Amino acid sequence: MEERTTPSEPEVRMDRRMFVKLGAASVVAGSAMAASLPARAAEKVTAGPVKQRALPIEVDNAVYKRFHQENTAFCQALSGRFPQGIDALRALGKVSDDPGQRQLDKALTTAGWYVDKLIANGASTAGPATIAYSRDNEVSENRYAFESPETASMHIKKAARFLGADLVGIAPYDERWTYASFFDPALGKSVPPDLPFTPKSVIVLAFEMDYEAFTTAPSGISGGAVGQGYSQMAITGASLRKFITQLGYNTFATGNDVALSVPYGVAAGLGEAARNGILVTSEYGPRVRLGKVFTELDLAVDAPVTFGVRHFCENCMRCADACPGDAISREVKPSFAVHNECNNKGVEKWAIDAKKCLITWGKTKTDCSTCITSCPYNKPGFWHHRLVDKLNKVAPESLHAVMREMDKLFGYGNSFDQEAVFTFWKS
Ligand code: SF4
Ligand code: SF4
Repeated sequence: MEERTTPSEPEVRMDRRMFVKLGAASVVAGSAMAASLPARAAEKVTAGPVKQRALPIEVDNAVYKRFHQENTAFCQALSGRFPQGIDALRALGKVSDDPGQRQLDKALTTAGWYVDKLIANGASTAGPATIAYSRDNEVSENRYAFESPETASMHIKKAARFLGADLVGIAPYDERWTYASFFDPALGKSVPPDLPFTPKSVIVLAFEMDYEAFTTAPSGISGGAVGQGYSQMAITGASLRKFITQLGYNTFATGNDVALSVPYGVAAGLGEAARNGILVTSEYGPRVRLGKVFTELDLAVDAPVTFGVRHFCENCMRCADACPGDAISREVKPSFAVHNECNNKGVEKWAIDAKKCLITWGKTKTDCSTCITSCPYNKPGFWHHRLVDKLNKVAPESLHAVMREMDKLFGYGNSFDQEAVFTFWKS
């Protein structure tokens, strides 16, 4: 299997002056490129994500088996199968005088997670949290009749955004992504994957995490942004479940529990599965958390999209370079290779070594998140960033490496930056 380090290193070693020149040249070249693109490609540049007919992830159904939740690194840590993992989780609470690790910073972590812990404890790591997200079983006896599945989807999406979701997509229920067994942390063992009903549709919710907080990663501040993402997920997931059950349809809401989130994010047209193992959205890059709401309501579904992320990943590897745990694949192309039982076989992807990742959390005493901060798709929503993202998908591969370096030159994606901690608290 082909392996390589940072792509095109010789051509990207240049001084700042040369780089600015190249930057100006590439902007001009980019404009010229856009102007000279064939009509179909030029249309893609302006049209944003391109809809796909099928899931743009290859699954080998002869090999693929549903994933047992107990095999996640978190559940292995909680069950005692992965002692280094539980040591790492314990280290997250430690405080020191280092910027990003102070009581001030770690208090923000605790505050960010507070609502999640109150109403959905466990949904971020284990589960099943169906009960936590669904504290009552009331379903209205009067079933509201939508005009059509399309109308139902439109109203459900409106309600989801009103209740706090930043992005909403809808996918058909796909049993392949439901865990083969659930891990119950209270019992310390797996339980059967019983769902209260067979869902028809899955509403996938994405929650943006604070950009500025992520400039401090890894720190207690970025940890607070992660926790805040989960807390908002709990509020919105629980509220959306209530809305749909008030319309007479069985529904349950989940966090990371019950089923894999990234395939559903892809299926619901919210983004692409990237090298860092995270869903990269066109709006916020990988700086999102995903929740899922399962319902028996028949909804019109969204199409998966591509906007060039996986192609860009082949020539980027910035997350792999930045990862302090060497947990991110350096294979150029996604493959069926896995590291250990934390990865399920039969899906073409860049597999993350989740055990190495969790051990690194222990070393940094945070939930790290460097792979989110370092990604060139992680940007505030300025128009010029979105234009560059759109150019990415039609840019020649040689330009991807240059774009990656320009991103660094302009100061984006730094991690372990103590100044960013002080800037965060002063702004
Ligand atoms: S969270 Fe940190 S250790 Fe884990 S994969 Fe991302 S960068 Fe690597
Ligand atoms: S940092 Fe680069 S390689 Fe990693 S997910 Fe983002 S675009 Fe892909």
